[in-house]
Amino acid sequence: MTASHAVPLATPVLTIAGGDSTFPVRRVYCVGRNYVEHIREMKEGDERDPPFFFQKPSDAVVANGAELAYPPCTDDFQHEIELVVAIGGGGIDIPVGAALDHVFGYAVGIDMTRRDRQREMRERMLPWEMGKSFDASAPCGPLHPVGRVGHVGRGAITLSVNGELRQKGDFAQMIWNVPEIVANLSTQYELKAGDLIFTGTPAGVGPVVPGDSLEGAIEGLGTIHFTIGSRKS
Ligand code: MN
Repeated sequence: MTASHAVPLATPVLTIAGGDSTFPVRRVYCVGRNYVEHIREMKEGDERDPPFFFQKPSDAVVANGAELAYPPCTDDFQHEIELVVAIGGGGIDIPVGAALDHVFGYAVGIDMTRRDRQREMRERMLPWEMGKSFDASAPCGPLHPVGRVGHVGRGAITLSVNGELRQKGDFAQMIWNVPEIVANLSTQYELKAGDLIFTGTPAGVGPVVPGDSLEGAIEGLGTIHFTIGSRKS
């Protein structure tokens, strides 16, 4: 067998909580910063700047319970716990007032980051891909449909490493709320069913090392668990 044979690609999916169906993932968008305390800890600029977005590859989504290999090209692999919004109905230039009608559900996710590479790229005014958009960088728990959990507006968001609390916030503290994020993003891209949006992280981000156990939780959306595997290189 040679590599010249075309191999059909598997569509990344998230499980839907409370059933056996799955949600095919189309694109993964992330908000660059969305909690004041995190902007301060990162010593980034104006807290009132409009949101900005970057993408991760859709096959960077990793299902709950997995082991995440420690990625190459970093010595500072960090966690960012985030509320994830799943788009069920697409659109362009979606008004803020109609944005929630486009949301299929919510999940708990972690925007895993090569912080050393992200800082380096930022200082050199280069794109963030190397810091953010690598393999297995988007671990995400099961999707909770709006029909079962309603729309989430406030609630505790936490991340613990080896049982020690590292990140704690409330997503009512988000600078841009979910309708505003969906509306803003839809001015840049046509949103479609299957899009995920990671909505930014509260303060307390920090490094993990091989062997660490991560537990993320959002009030009303349950908990997720991941472990950090060994370095591949
Ligand atoms: Mn993030």
